[in-house]
Amino acid sequence: MALDRFGRRIHYLRISLTDHCNLRCLYCMPEDMTFRPNADLMQDDEILLLTRLFANLGFDKIRLTGGEPTARAHVVELVRGITHTPGVRSVSMTTNGVLLSRLAKPFAEAGLQRVNISIDTLNPAKFRRLTRWGDMEDVWDGILAAEEAGLTPVKLNAVVVKSYNEEDVLDLARLTLEHPWQVRFIEMMPFAGATELQTKQMVSAAQIQARVEAAFGALEAANSGKLDGEARIFHIPGAQGDIGFISSVSAPFCATCTRARLTADGMLRMCLLREHEIDLLKPLRAGATRDDLRTMILDAVWNKPWGHGLVEGVIATNRVMSQIGG
Ligand code: SAM
Ligand code: SF4
Repeated sequence: MALDRFGRRIHYLRISLTDHCNLRCLYCMPEDMTFRPNADLMQDDEILLLTRLFANLGFDKIRLTGGEPTARAHVVELVRGITHTPGVRSVSMTTNGVLLSRLAKPFAEAGLQRVNISIDTLNPAKFRRLTRWGDMEDVWDGILAAEEAGLTPVKLNAVVVKSYNEEDVLDLARLTLEHPWQVRFIEMMPFAGATELQTKQMVSAAQIQARVEAAFGALEAANSGKLDGEARIFHIPGAQGDIGFISSVSAPFCATCTRARLTADGMLRMCLLREHEIDLLKPLRAGATRDDLRTMILDAVWNKPWGHGLVEGVIATNRVMSQIGG
């Protein structure tokens, strides 16, 4: 079991399969983003070896992310390898959904259990503005394909950005009346090269909730008031689905964090919003033994920071979100 010095059991690993992406969301990366060459990224056998090591240390929950994980070559085979790793109990994926109408069924057959699909608005023009070149219909088809393939409960992630999609939270919330989906509203976080957009156009979870309640009435707490991962969960009375609020900036959930992140270039990052990283890939390529790597992971876990420093104005500036793995 991997414990940190505050007694938190760290057992949830987010693996970024690539930093590459087929969209360019405004709040995530610049339009002229450059990506790492493939040789710098973990190869399939390296991902599987590290997954086995983490699983041996008690990491039983894995989320695959990116960049856009579905943009990685041979991703279905890789998913199969990860889901079949002894000790791994649950494997999910965060995706923009663009390629999901084709991949949902093969993913489910490969053992993937769930997906979170990012969709910030149901308005196609606004969707294009936020993603710079995305087609909302592709994502909608992806959502339906995920449900059809049994990658459920389907969770939809929406980052809310002032003067872009604040009013659109109502259409997204309305989806839960008819669909057993969980729509999760996320506060925008600042990263490297923090743009005016990230710092000045953040909408707080409390503001989003107030807007939803003004339209639908008071929300009822779901999940017995417990956090679902990082989200506080509610529902509109009588609705089939849930609404979640992720308040990483205004009300962080650091005290209950059980996560570690492995970037696509093989760096172990113990806090999304802290810069410190431990390179696992270079030692692995230089011939480190399993015991060496195991010790490095346990040390990193032990020294996991208590929490992030956004409230004190500390912004992690060494990577943007897509280079860490959201
Ligand atoms: N490409 C996939 C996707 O978009 O779902 C997976 C990677 S993406 C980095 C993971 C999640 O991070 C997405 O839901 C995205 O909306 C969110 N995200 C990206 N930049 C963010 C930011 N600055 N603040 C908060 N969430 C952000
Ligand atoms: Fe790509 Fe996801 Fe970042 Fe959008 S949020 S640019 S889809 S990695």
